[in-house]
Amino acid sequence: MTGVYPKLLSPLDLGFTTLRNRVVMGSMHTGLEDRARDTGRLAEYFAERARGGVGLIITGGYAPNRTGWLLPFAAEMTTGADARRHRRITSAVHDGGAKILLQVLHAGRYAYHPLSVSASAIKAPINPFRPRALSDRGVVKTIDDFVRCALLAREAGYDGVEIMGSEGYLLNQFLSPATNKRTDRWGGSPRHRRRLPVEIVRRTREAVGPDFIIDYRLSMADYVENGQSWQEILALASEAQDAGATLINSGFGWHEARVPTIVTSVPSGAFVDISSAVAEHVDIPVVASNRINMPEAAEQILEDTHVQLISMARPMLSDPDWVNKAAADTADEINTCIACNQACLDHAFVHKKVSCLLNPRAGRETSLVLEPTRAARSVAVVGAGPAGLAAAVSAASRGHRVTLFDANEFIGGQFDLARRIPGKEEFAETIRYYTTMLNKHAVDVRLGSRVGAEELTTFDDVVLATGVTPRLPSIPGVDHPMVLTYPEAIYGTRPVGARVAVIGAGGIGFDVTELLTTDESPTLNLKEWKAEWGVADPAEARGALTKPLPAPPAREVYLLQRTAGRQGTKLGKTSGWVHRASVKAKGVQQLSGVNYERIDDSGLHISFGEKHSRPTLLEVDNVVICAGQDSVRDLEDELRARGIRPHVIGGAALAAELDAKRAIKQGTELAASL
Ligand code: FAD
Ligand code: NAP
Ligand code: SF4
Repeated sequence: MTGVYPKLLSPLDLGFTTLRNRVVMGSMHTGLEDRARDTGRLAEYFAERARGGVGLIITGGYAPNRTGWLLPFAAEMTTGADARRHRRITSAVHDGGAKILLQVLHAGRYAYHPLSVSASAIKAPINPFRPRALSDRGVVKTIDDFVRCALLAREAGYDGVEIMGSEGYLLNQFLSPATNKRTDRWGGSPRHRRRLPVEIVRRTREAVGPDFIIDYRLSMADYVENGQSWQEILALASEAQDAGATLINSGFGWHEARVPTIVTSVPSGAFVDISSAVAEHVDIPVVASNRINMPEAAEQILEDTHVQLISMARPMLSDPDWVNKAAADTADEINTCIACNQACLDHAFVHKKVSCLLNPRAGRETSLVLEPTRAARSVAVVGAGPAGLAAAVSAASRGHRVTLFDANEFIGGQFDLARRIPGKEEFAETIRYYTTMLNKHAVDVRLGSRVGAEELTTFDDVVLATGVTPRLPSIPGVDHPMVLTYPEAIYGTRPVGARVAVIGAGGIGFDVTELLTTDESPTLNLKEWKAEWGVADPAEARGALTKPLPAPPAREVYLLQRTAGRQGTKLGKTSGWVHRASVKAKGVQQLSGVNYERIDDSGLHISFGEKHSRPTLLEVDNVVICAGQDSVRDLEDELRARGIRPHVIGGAALAAELDAKRAIKQGTELAASL
C-alpha cells in the first residue's frame, strides 16, 4: 500500500467483516447514553466521527443489568425497546462508513448505588457503597445478562460488542486476588478467577454466531497492589481468544490506581510495549491505546510493534475529522487532544455532559453549528489567546473577513506560558493547530501590534479578547527585586534562586511549582516517569507496581495560600491528584491559612490565621506571585466612546475562574452567532 500512513489507513480483514482502516474510536461515556431523549444527539455525535473516517467506533459503557449500572438508572441494554432505540445510532454510523461496537460494562464495586455487587464484599477506596458478594447463582445470571446484552446489540444493528474487562470494573474484580477472595469455582486459583470473563466470551460467541465482533478489553497492567501477574494476563488473553474473541483491546490501571495513565504528563505511547507483548502471545489482532494522538506516532507503532489497531478516544472528541485529515496528508490541521481531561473526563466524573476543551462542538453537534455565512462581515479580533483564536478561526471558517491583532510577537496568550510547564509540552500542539488554521482561512494576522480604538472603527464587528494580566497583591515589599510575576518565572526573563516561595496555590501556582522543582531538561522520558510513579514492567511484579523513586527537586519550594485547608482542591477531578502527588513527591512545603506580612531582604515574612499567630520568616531567594489575574479591557470604554459596542469574551469578560475551556467555548459560540 502506498500513500500517507500506509499501515494506519490500510483495511483490516477480520474474516467475516473488514474494517476500513486501523483507527478505533475508543469507548467514552458522554452522558448522552443514559436518557432516551438524547439518542438523536448521540447518533449525530457518532455520525460526525464516522463521516470523519474512523474505522471502528466503540460506544460508552452499557450495563447488562441493573446491578451493573454505573449510577442509578444509568445506561443499560436490557430490553427490545432499548435495542430498537439504538437503531438510530447504528444506521447513522453505518451511513458514515464505519463499524460500531456496543461496550458492555458491569461496574461491579465501582457502581455508585446500593445495589452494587462484586466478587467479594470489599469496598472500593473510591466509592462509599460496599458491594454484595455475588452468589454462585448470581454469577451465572450475570453471564446470562452479558449474553442477552450482546444479542440485543446485534438486534440493534451493532457490528459487535466490547466486553469491558479492565479499569477495575466487575470482571477485573474477579481476576485480581486483591478483590476476589472466593473459594468456589469463581475464585481461589488464577484459573478459577479467570472463569467469569472467559465464560462470558464463550457463551456470547455461542449465542451470537461467528459473524459478530467480540472485542475483549484486557487489563494488561492493573497498577494496584496484589493485582494480576503477567502469566495470568497472558493466560487470559489466550483463553479469551480460544473462547471466541475477535479482538483484544488494551486497558491500563484501575480507576483507584495511583498511577496516572492518561493525563498529559504521561509520556506518549507509554504502554505500547505491553500491548505488543500481548499481541506476540495471541493470534488475534490487539489494539494499542492510551496517549496516542497523532497519525505519525500511530503509524510508527504499527510499523514497530505487533499491535494491529490503534485506539484513540479523546483525540476523536477534539477532532472528529482526524482520519480524513491524516488521509489527506494534512495532519497539521488536526486539533490534537492535549490530554487535559478538563471537558471530557472531568465532566464525566461529576455527571456533566462530556465535551472537549478544544472543540466545544463535541456532544453539541446538533446545536453548535458553524455554517457558512450568507452575509460576510469584516471582523476585528483583538487578542490572540485561546478566546481570540477560537473566535477568529471559527468566524473565518464561516466566510467572514477576519483581522486578528495581538500585542505580542506570537499567538497563544497565556496558553503560551502553559506549554512551557513540564508535562504540558503538548499544549504547543494547540498553538500549531491555530497557526495552521489562521493561514488556511486567510485570517489577516497582525502581531506585535497593540491596537487602539481608532484602528477598529472601520470593522463591522469588534471582538475584545484581550484576556488577563497577572494580579499583584498589595503585600508590603511586593516591589522588592526578589519578587517575580509568574510570566517572568516561566519565561526565565530573570533568574530564580535555590529557595523559592510561591504565593498562590491555584492551577498556575501548582504549575509554577512543578517548573521550579524540575531541572533544566523538563520532559520526562519513559524510564524517569516510571521511576517517579513506581511503575514496573507487568512481567516484573504482580500489579506492575514497584517503589517510586522520584528525581530530587531542583529547588526548595514553599507553596502558599491564604485559605485554610488542603491545597489544590479546585484542580481538575482527574488531574488534580496527579499534581498534588507530584508536588508532594518533590518535597514541596505546602502552607495554608497564611498571611503575607511583608517581603524584605531577608525573605518572606508570614503568619497564620486570623490572629496572625506563629510569625515565621521564609528565608527565600525569590518570591513568585501566582495570585490570580485581572481582566484587560481598557479598550472597551474607548470603543464605546466611539459608538462601537464590542463583543467581550474570555478573560477580558471575566477573569475569575477563567480557563482555556471557557475562553475557547465563548470564542466559538460567538463566531457561530455572527
Ligand atoms: P489570554 O490568554 O490572556 O490572551 C489575551 C491576548 O490578548 C494576549 O495574547 C495579549 O497579548 C492580547 N492583548 C491584550 N490587549 C491587547 C491589545 N490592546 N492589542 C492587542 N493585543 C492585546 N487553562 C486551562 O484551561 N488549562 C490549563 O491547563 C491551563 N494551564 C495554564 C498554565 C499556565 C502556566 C498559565 C499561565 C495559564 C494556564 N491556563 C490553563 C489558563 C489559560 O491559558 C487562560 O485561561 C487562557 O489563556 C485565557 O484566554 P484568553 O484568550 O481569554 O486570554
Ligand atoms: P486561581 O486558581 O484562582 O488561583 C489563584 C490563587 O491565588 C489562589 O491560590 C488564591 O488563593 C490566591 N490569591 C488570590 N488573590 C490573592 C491575593 N490578593 N493575594 C494573595 N493570594 C491571592 O487562579 P490561577 O492559579 O491564576 O489560574 C488561573 C486559571 O487558569 C484558573 O481558573 C485555572 O483553572 C486555570 N489553570 C488550570 C490548570 C489546570 O491544570 N487545569 C492549570 C493552570 C491554570 P488564596 O485566596 O487562598 O490565597
Ligand atoms: Fe482531549 Fe482535553 Fe479535549 Fe478531553 S478536553 S478530549 S483531554 S483536549
